[in-house]
Amino acid sequence: MEATRGVMIYAEQNGGKVHPVSYELLGKGREIADRLGVELSAVLVGHNLDAEAQELIFHGADTVYLFDHEALATFDIMNYRRNIVDLACETMPDIILLGATPIGRSLGPRLAAALNTGLTADCTSLEVDDEGELVQIRPAFSGNILAHIKTNTRPQMATVRYKIMQALPRDCDHQGKVVHREPVLEDPLAVLSRVPCNRQDIRGVSEAEIVVCGGRGLKKPEDLKLLQDLADELGGVVGCSKPLVDEGWMDKDHLVGFSGSTVRPRVYFAVGVSGSSQHLIGMRNAGTIVAINRDPEAMIFEVADYAIVGDLYDLVPRLTSVLRKQRTRDQMEGSVCT
Ligand SMILES: Cc1cc2nc3c(=O)[nH]c(=O)nc-3n(C[C@H](O)[C@H](O)[C@H](O)COP(=O)(O)OP(=O)(O)OC[C@H]3O[C@@H](n4cnc5c(N)ncnc54)[C@H](O)[C@@H]3O)c2cc1C
Repeated sequence: MEATRGVMIYAEQNGGKVHPVSYELLGKGREIADRLGVELSAVLVGHNLDAEAQELIFHGADTVYLFDHEALATFDIMNYRRNIVDLACETMPDIILLGATPIGRSLGPRLAAALNTGLTADCTSLEVDDEGELVQIRPAFSGNILAHIKTNTRPQMATVRYKIMQALPRDCDHQGKVVHREPVLEDPLAVLSRVPCNRQDIRGVSEAEIVVCGGRGLKKPEDLKLLQDLADELGGVVGCSKPLVDEGWMDKDHLVGFSGSTVRPRVYFAVGVSGSSQHLIGMRNAGTIVAINRDPEAMIFEVADYAIVGDLYDLVPRLTSVLRKQRTRDQMEGSVCT
């Protein structure tokens, strides 16, 4: 096995701001790089990102490779892939980590294919063994076991779930360098095929501070409006369990759990959700969990901070109405925080 040449993370940005998963990757990347005695680098692609590049250094990067061009301002799979692959071929990192976000899940496999290596998707933990190899840990077999995976090709690549790793505290004294790289742009057809980056869609439920998640307790797709009204009142977003995606009521960006996103909002409402192991794995670390279910034995109550037994069709509109009245009262008293 060749000597290790460093750890590289892909620093995702949306709309000119680094996605917080990138700081989490730097936190874990720093730990791994220090253990192996190698450099930690970040690759940042976009436009007008000098300040963000510096932030990456404050969060642990030794080197930031910055590709800056207006044509790269939004995620463009062809040009992003092309430039990162060229960089990886030149710097030859031993480990490359990406966030398991919609962008990371799109970019990661394409990078791995171009670099002729493997990729472990959706890791929930990473370790380094006594031989200095990366052990990539993720749930397998419907979440019933934790698989420990090693890659015998290089670089070792993994996407890592958002809100699992810890970011380092911002350290303004941490020194590093920003290396400006001249981007190579693919032909104009590639630019025309740019994936539209609707910030809201890309961010999905993972980013939300409040998630109102609906399950099969809902009888028909129109009833999702009840959850949307509650989410709107709280400034949150609607998530769902898998049956709602399978039925085509919501798209997969909203799915919480093993097959979808891991979320760690401040408040998580589970409405008509039974609490299967595959669902719990995606939300059990939420700050406060409020569960509404008419079955007092529902498994979701085992992880709930507030367990409300009752009919969602009665409780959700009442809760929304109470919150709306409260907000109106606050506004009239001028005490609402906007
Ligand atoms: C490989 C694999 C991957 C999977 N990945 C995921 C995943 O990522 N995310 C996920 O969610 N699931 C996943 N699943 C599916 C999972 O096993 C469950 O089937 C699913 O989570 C159940 O969804 P649910 O809780 O909405 O539905 P149910 O289990 O049917 O629960 C519905 C709940 O609603 C309650 N209810 C009914 N009517 C009302 C009412 N009027 N008021 C209040 N409560 C009511 C019921 O008491 C019940 O508890 C996966 C399964 C497999 C095999």
